[in-house]
Amino acid sequence: MKKKFGFIFQNNSQNAQDFVGRDRIAVSTSYTRSYGFVPDYGRGVEIWDVDGQKYLDLAAGIAVLSTGYSHPHVISEVKDQIDNLVHIGGTDFFPTNQIKLAEKLQEIIPIHNTERPADKRVHIVNSGSEANETALKLARYRRSGREGRSIVLAFYGAFHGRTYGSLSLTASKAIQRSNFSHIPGGVIHLPYPSKFVYDNAPGDLQQSIEFDTVAFIKKYIFKKVSPDQIAAVFVEPIQGEGGYVVPVDHFLPDLREFCNQYGILLVVDEIQSGIGRTGKWIATEHWDVKPDIVTLAKGLGSGFQIGAVVASQQVMNWLPGTHASTYSGHSVSCRAALATLDVIEEERLMENVNTVSAFAIDELKQLQQEFPDIIHRIDGKGLMIGIEFAEPDGNPLPRFRDRVVENCFLKHVLTLGAGKSTLRLAPPLIITIEQMREGLTVLREAIVSALNEPDHIEQSSMIGPDVLIVEDEALIRRSVAATIEKVLPQVNILEAENFDRAKALLETTSNLLLIILDNSLTDDKTDSKGIELLPYIEPHVNQNDTVVIAFTSTMEIADFRQFVLHGVLTDIIEKGSPDNYRQLQQAIETSLKKTLIV
Ligand SMILES: *Cc1c(COP(=O)(O)O)cnc(C)c1O
Repeated sequence: MKKKFGFIFQNNSQNAQDFVGRDRIAVSTSYTRSYGFVPDYGRGVEIWDVDGQKYLDLAAGIAVLSTGYSHPHVISEVKDQIDNLVHIGGTDFFPTNQIKLAEKLQEIIPIHNTERPADKRVHIVNSGSEANETALKLARYRRSGREGRSIVLAFYGAFHGRTYGSLSLTASKAIQRSNFSHIPGGVIHLPYPSKFVYDNAPGDLQQSIEFDTVAFIKKYIFKKVSPDQIAAVFVEPIQGEGGYVVPVDHFLPDLREFCNQYGILLVVDEIQSGIGRTGKWIATEHWDVKPDIVTLAKGLGSGFQIGAVVASQQVMNWLPGTHASTYSGHSVSCRAALATLDVIEEERLMENVNTVSAFAIDELKQLQQEFPDIIHRIDGKGLMIGIEFAEPDGNPLPRFRDRVVENCFLKHVLTLGAGKSTLRLAPPLIITIEQMREGLTVLREAIVSALNEPDHIEQSSMIGPDVLIVEDEALIRRSVAATIEKVLPQVNILEAENFDRAKALLETTSNLLLIILDNSLTDDKTDSKGIELLPYIEPHVNQNDTVVIAFTSTMEIADFRQFVLHGVLTDIIEKGSPDNYRQLQQAIETSLKKTLIV
């Protein structure tokens, strides 16, 4: 087992490590990778990495590869399309695949206040976020009788995307929203009533208003805004990124009734849960509810970029020019979506979803009985299944979850986390019971390994401890990293270019050996902002004898007085001129040798 760049890798993964090394100095730092998997090619439910190793994929690129990798029908349709016409914009012309896909979605997606497919309208977009942007604009669009409505209700734990409008609806993780101020016009977030939490709450807590969303709105939200200011309620019928959370049974029917009463639009985000994943075209059907607007993406294109918004013709009735995009109705993506929907119908994949799901949930419930102290919740519908790792009192075990995810990877099964400490299973809909059995056997082994793993200190001899470099200039960061790798080759270097990143990394590492701070970060012109890091560093210093070294020019040594006062600063290195990397390297090397026995 090997950890490099903060990620776990397989043995014999030189190609993967090379690519990840290149990624680290070329690609945006905003991604949240869990382990060092570098894909090469995929077939069905299996995918191979660049070192030729094979994996069973229980994540499907976050519920995207609905028909699996390279489904022969999808690929042959797409190849035929590419030979004929890649793209001509649906905004200006009439690409036939956009029309055919719209017709198909009219047929299969249930919409409130419609009797026939022709009563619906479809807007094709390129992604999930764009689908929600479209729905948001549509819901706020001023049409007769709905003037002045701009407020949107959404839910804590929700994930609706990362573009500005969709981001303002998201309330899944603070990191997704901090640093981005909100769009004007309000979004109000409400508690999402988890069925699991409700079912396991003592009687008096079940009476809590948090489980009765409509009562909550009437009691709290209507104190701030009047019903006729509210344009829409945006909701995931099953929360995805929030941790695969199924709501209480009356939640969606209550919302439907509430929306009817006040002329508010019910917008369901089926981007993760839709297109057969839960055994129905959209998950909302499980509660016999018809939404006003449905947003789709992920599984719709079997990996091709596509999203869609479906509404009634009364709702999707906006003037030419109000909304469009260059790639609307992309001929290849629409063809891939049409082929995907064909495969789901012809191969009866929704029946397969139900069969494999029943098997998996049964097995997982047994696993839960075997490990009741760490498996807190098995939740979900169809092939959208969450396994929450938490102590019996609900205290989440995020690191344990991460270890299970990493161990699954090492045992050649791909999974992903969701929420705070949930592991999600969202395999391609074509998965067989045999493949699911294989995956769950590995999951069990991964849990057993994680349970048997020695604690932090022993772990550090297996996988090197973490070293965190906090420095805003990439060149200096890399130079410091190279120096440390030379002196301490077994460590994992974590890099932070600012405090928020440093805090996030300090929260995730349990194995911190050394932190190196740059003065330019502690000196925020007026005040020592680095002090904010102290509460994140101190627990490490107390537990693991973490060493904190700061480098600075002599002038700014005073900035570190707080660190010295708290007894966390081990050494200050004078780096001299910031351009003199060699001098800095030598100073760090000497300091490391002095501070640690290496
Ligand atoms: C993934 C996701 C989105 C965002 O989709 P992108 O294609 O990443 O923009 C929105 N809503 C839900 C429920 C999702 O799972």
